[in-house]
Amino acid sequence: MKKTLLFLLSLILVACGTTIGQGQIQQPRNDRYLVVVSMDGFRWDYNLMYETPFLDSLAHAGVDARMRPSYPSKTFPNHYTLATGLVPDHHGIIANNFTERKTGRRFSLSNPETKFDGAFYGGEPIWITAQKNGINAGIIYWPGSEVEIQGIRPYVYHKYDENLMPFDQRIAEVKRLLTLPEAVRPHLVMVYFSEPDATGHDKGPYSPQTRKAVKTMDKMMRELYGVLQALPFFEQIDFIVTSDHGMTRTSPERLIRLSDYVKPEWIHHVDYSVPSWLDANKIEANGIVLDYTDSIVDALKDVPHLRAWRRSEVPAYLQFGTNENIGDVILNTDLGWVVGETYEETTGTHGFDPFFPDMHVNFRAIGPDFKSGYVKEEIFQNVCLYPLLCHLLGITPAPMDGNLEDIKDILK
Ligand code: AMP
Ligand code: ZN
Ligand code: ZN
Repeated sequence: MKKTLLFLLSLILVACGTTIGQGQIQQPRNDRYLVVVSMDGFRWDYNLMYETPFLDSLAHAGVDARMRPSYPSKTFPNHYTLATGLVPDHHGIIANNFTERKTGRRFSLSNPETKFDGAFYGGEPIWITAQKNGINAGIIYWPGSEVEIQGIRPYVYHKYDENLMPFDQRIAEVKRLLTLPEAVRPHLVMVYFSEPDATGHDKGPYSPQTRKAVKTMDKMMRELYGVLQALPFFEQIDFIVTSDHGMTRTSPERLIRLSDYVKPEWIHHVDYSVPSWLDANKIEANGIVLDYTDSIVDALKDVPHLRAWRRSEVPAYLQFGTNENIGDVILNTDLGWVVGETYEETTGTHGFDPFFPDMHVNFRAIGPDFKSGYVKEEIFQNVCLYPLLCHLLGITPAPMDGNLEDIKDILK
């Protein structure tokens, strides 16, 4: 009898959205719609350098902020951080391409066999937290959204394959999703665009082509916002436009050749990227294991523009180095410097220490929950997006690294 009473009481408390014990129990907010856009590689100051009249108007009417990515400042690691609130070291997508130590399997954006394997994706992306709370999510190409994670997928998702929807069709898809019958209509819509990253790589951040790509994306955002404005429930839509990382100039003179310092027989495998990392050779003879990690770290210790860290020695502020799939030695470079044998980088790239301003991104938000004309002074880390989205949807976040307090000031 007592038990039944307690159960009934807890049901009533849950229905009221009351806190019980430690865990916050919340009520999903059925009156809210969230539309979140990522424009890949939209550096925080593109709107200062180039013409972005629409994004400027969002800044004036809503929230104008600057966000810092997590390390490494690459596309998959950071989009998945935005979705889960976990840093890459903790969610497991530690790079766009990496080798799983246990199995030797290669995770890669271009390898469907691993890209679609949910076991690589730790944590709980927002679309799953939403679905678990009975809120449908419609996700257009956000990295990770096409993968079954914890046996769940968003209500609507799209495979990122050779038949990609052009940008204007993605906007039409947002409209379709938001005009579905009310019973199934997604209250969380997220959409990904691969520009201005592609042009930023190809031509560098300071090029007429990137100027044009930024301008085009600004127009796209205006179009998308126009679609939202035409909806009868526009007043209930919170709209966020942001990105995964910035972009900086690279050049052939800023190449660090490993073979100038390290003997090839010391190295088992190198993953060239930004940051590059490597596994040292380990040779067993007469029961003794000869591990070349020390030789490599020692040989690289005075190389200008480079820091070679053992996995366990990555400075704490980068929140990186506990994941076993990271290489034995991480090659962290100064901004714009790349490690390679020949220069294969494009004119621009990213992946560098997220504390370099060039890696920062733009963050714009407008809608019923956001302050208007608010400029956020402190730069915040992108792990805060997930708890913000959970808060806006009225759902309890899964365990994560973010902190709502760091970003709460942008809310009314
Ligand atoms: P990055 O090397 O970090 O600049 O990666 C950007 C690239 O990731 C772009 O060329 C995108 O086309 C690609 N990309 C974005 N989403 C996906 C996806 N879901 N599957 C495969 N590639 C993707
Ligand atoms: Zn990117
Ligand atoms: Zn890129």
